[in-house]
Amino acid sequence: MLSIVSTPIGNLGDITLRAIETLKKCSTVVCEDTRVTGNLLKQLGIEKKELQSFHGYSDEGKLSFILGKLKRGDHLALTTDAGTPGISDPGFALVSRAREENIPIEVIPGPSAFLTALSGSGLPINQFVYLGFLPIKKGRKILLESFLREERTVVFYESVHRIEKTLNELAQSLASQPHRRIVIARELTKMHEEFIATDIENLTATAQTLMKKGEFVIVMEAA
Ligand code: SAM
Repeated sequence: MLSIVSTPIGNLGDITLRAIETLKKCSTVVCEDTRVTGNLLKQLGIEKKELQSFHGYSDEGKLSFILGKLKRGDHLALTTDAGTPGISDPGFALVSRAREENIPIEVIPGPSAFLTALSGSGLPINQFVYLGFLPIKKGRKILLESFLREERTVVFYESVHRIEKTLNELAQSLASQPHRRIVIARELTKMHEEFIATDIENLTATAQTLMKKGEFVIVMEAA
């Protein structure tokens, strides 16, 4: 059995009862960084658990090794460093192969940064498009320009190293829609959580004054 287990995106209190129970009873946790997951298990009082790191496609040997355990009937839990496995994180390759092999799969739902950001953004969220991380080079310009015609709320992730550049590029590409609202969600569920509401017209100024520390989600109103 493969249990896909979401873990907190910052606040340990967001771990679910089912997640704790599953992490306790599984024989192995397949995770991204064994130090991060080892630390989570320690905080939950779960000791002596086998951890196997798994980073995705590149890892064919590791994937076969993990599938071998599942086929043997072992109960494995899949986690990543934070949030929901497979959402801009490893997981897809393993879940896909496990499905092909008819291995029983259960999902233990929990936090994801994009849902948390949408939920608190104050923008309409009945329909939205999630883009993960924007492409750094190929297709980036075309994508930014396509936002001019996007009729759904847009949500995507950005790293601390690129946040200012991306906000400035958005301000440029969408300059013809100055009142379009943007919400920058920073450090969700953590001590310095903030939702910064701005619009295209003021985005360059917001990008300058923004605290460039921590993790970010950008939510953009539909065109
Ligand atoms: N699997 C995760 C999920 O379900 O949200 C996403 C993993 S992705 C590698 C990491 C990115 O998610 C960060 O660069 C940031 O954009 C976003 N993120 C994760 N935790 C966050 C938090 N607490 N506050 C804001 N953004 C966060």
